[in-house]
Amino acid sequence: MGLKVCKFGGTSMASGNVILSAAKIIEEDKDRRYVVVSAPGKRYSGDIKVTDLLYKCSDEVEAGDISAFKETFEKIRVRFMNIEAEIGKELHIKDGLDEAEQEILNGAGRDYCASRGEFLAAKIMAAVLDVPFVDATEFVRFDENGVLDQKETFALGEKVLKQYARAVIPGFYGLGANGKVKTFSRGGGDISGSIVARSVMACLYENWTDVSGFYVCDPRIINSPKWIPELTYQELRELSYMGANVLHSESIFPVRSAGIPIRICNTFRPEDAGTYIVKNSTRDIRDYVVTGIAGKKGFTSITLEKSLMNSEVGFVQKVLSVIGKHGISFEHLPSGIDTMSLVIDNEFLKGDILKLLLAEMQEAVQPDKIYTHENISLIATVGHGMAKNVGTSARLFKALSEAGINVNMIDQGSSELNIIVGVENEDYANCLKAIYNEFFKA
Ligand code: ASP
Repeated sequence: MGLKVCKFGGTSMASGNVILSAAKIIEEDKDRRYVVVSAPGKRYSGDIKVTDLLYKCSDEVEAGDISAFKETFEKIRVRFMNIEAEIGKELHIKDGLDEAEQEILNGAGRDYCASRGEFLAAKIMAAVLDVPFVDATEFVRFDENGVLDQKETFALGEKVLKQYARAVIPGFYGLGANGKVKTFSRGGGDISGSIVARSVMACLYENWTDVSGFYVCDPRIINSPKWIPELTYQELRELSYMGANVLHSESIFPVRSAGIPIRICNTFRPEDAGTYIVKNSTRDIRDYVVTGIAGKKGFTSITLEKSLMNSEVGFVQKVLSVIGKHGISFEHLPSGIDTMSLVIDNEFLKGDILKLLLAEMQEAVQPDKIYTHENISLIATVGHGMAKNVGTSARLFKALSEAGINVNMIDQGSSELNIIVGVENEDYANCLKAIYNEFFKA
């Protein structure tokens, strides 16, 4: 076929035996030449990811509690030594662990500390495959604002990786503008895989994880939901942003402009077809209306009402500058002629901040009424098919009304790719079920 990049997530790196299965998958296809790995994740429910232990280590060092740090680091040491023992090959992992421990104690910083799980996991995979290890700091670059410098990264990535016919690269981090290790947000190993795929211009980016792709709805809520054979980059972005967390929502950006497809594959069921994520859909639009449904709990809406709001120049801007001043971003901004609402993630509203925002908005725009709806869930129904199939929103709202669900907010993107509804948190599961039953139950 052509060059492939494979990324193995935390559950695919969780123990020596699983790492051996991943290595077998890689060796089965000679096109799988560049491999990106995550830190060892959970082996069973209740287990602790190595990255979580490393963040704990960092907190303990920062708090000056060295004996707690030593205890936590010992757990990481035992995990890696067990992996080495299971693989049954001398991997010199002890040296890497000693060095990491020393550097963390010397104040190497939080991101360096968090990155060591991937660093050591990549060393292990490189030794198992007998393939060179290439550190992500050699080519993944962030700018002064902490944002991935795509241009520099792809240029360097191409130059560095071209020197190796095969390589294993740690995911999740690169080099910040200050010359120190910098990590992506959690789950960012998916972005690293995408960067490598773009740098070497792969024909496919395989993302190996513990599920066989995307399902049309969360399997924890819908029993055995239908599987999605193919998604577009845009659909993936909408679904993953709204909580379908198979893949990091930013992982499409590096591959998108080059049109490199992503395939989600299951390390534990490698024979499954998985889900392809592509630039343009090859599915027949008549075969499906909705591609998937995803949702998130924990939002608050602030609604402002004022007569003649529509003709008051700068009204929205003044409201937005109140939240902007506090470094708060909004998810949605549905509006009527004399009303507007801001939907904000509750993460931003801890403590007394909501009260403060309401007071500042009152002062800034003198609304007739201002009120909030706390505990809102947002549910997105996503699919390119919706624009082509007349009556989709009517079906959706009829299904919700028949299920007795009160909708607090509606937002439809102008591309007709999604319809987002806001409902009370307690209606979250029923809302997903009602939409699923309407569009997917035969
Ligand atoms: N190990 C990191 C995390 O747990 C990154 C990743 O797995 O992609 O978030």
